[in-house]
Amino acid sequence: MDALVFGPVPSRRFGSSLGVNPVPFKTCNYSCVYCQLGRTRPLRTERREYYPTSQVVEEIRAALESSKGQVDFVTFMGEGEPTLASNLGDMVRRVSEFWEGGVSLITNGSLFSLPDVREDAMGFDVISPTVSAGDEMTFRRLHRPHRLFTLRRTLDGLVDLRRTFPGEIWAEVMLVRGINDSQGSIDSIREAIRSIGADRTYITVPTRPPAECRISAPEPDVLRRALDSLPGALDMTGPEAGEFEACSEDPIAHLLAIAANHPLREDQVAGILSSRFPENHVADAIKLLVDEKRLERKQYGRTVFYVSPPSGGR
Ligand code: SF4
Repeated sequence: MDALVFGPVPSRRFGSSLGVNPVPFKTCNYSCVYCQLGRTRPLRTERREYYPTSQVVEEIRAALESSKGQVDFVTFMGEGEPTLASNLGDMVRRVSEFWEGGVSLITNGSLFSLPDVREDAMGFDVISPTVSAGDEMTFRRLHRPHRLFTLRRTLDGLVDLRRTFPGEIWAEVMLVRGINDSQGSIDSIREAIRSIGADRTYITVPTRPPAECRISAPEPDVLRRALDSLPGALDMTGPEAGEFEACSEDPIAHLLAIAANHPLREDQVAGILSSRFPENHVADAIKLLVDEKRLERKQYGRTVFYVSPPSGGR
């Protein structure tokens, strides 16, 4: 069964973030080359209720209660494009009845041309859309979207959102070497961000195993130039700061729920398991989870990550 709620996990934007999956694994209208969840097959464009509102809301309530005040944001994101959930607005309204902290949405930003999606977005404090291309060709190379979705449609929708949305819009720019890191690309991204009136801009790069093996981060000097070219942009390219919570009740279930959404470095896996296993047994515990095919080991650059294998309940 899919984990609808995971974490809290340390987030560079949202502090301690409780992740929520309102759609099943890889329910998305894009197939981004950098996606840490692999390729999208098939692309989906239909908005519908993938999970009952009450089920998602009750899982959020239980996770908040057991987190004992450690959560800063409840973040709708997860295993696909969250705005494809037609009950997203209902979920956020219900959560705000018992939760006074922040509620955020991480989205590819492509569906805000639809009035009902803009309406659903009103309950969020922060919306963080991807704005990683400023021209149509780069947009298609990077995101490989369903043919119904164009850059123009996406930006027009975000401009419409800005007119009525009272919260903050934090643009996320994913820079990929050889695709959108030329000075011309960065200039057009800057213009796209300006046009949607974003309150903040975060720059990020692929740091976890991507859908396509040749995808990598820009060279450091290119990254510096991009940061200089995007006024006020915040550098989110380093590894996450902060610890993953070492949940003492069931650390393995906790670990597997996070790994289904969020590739974990070896040290992060060890940190979570340390509440259950003595230090000298943690490596054996990880090996057993891999042997049992509950975790998959992946190398990206010099770093080893662990993810849930596609057959592991996804
Ligand atoms: S990165 Fe996000 S928008 Fe892109 S394919 Fe993955 S889930 Fe979809």
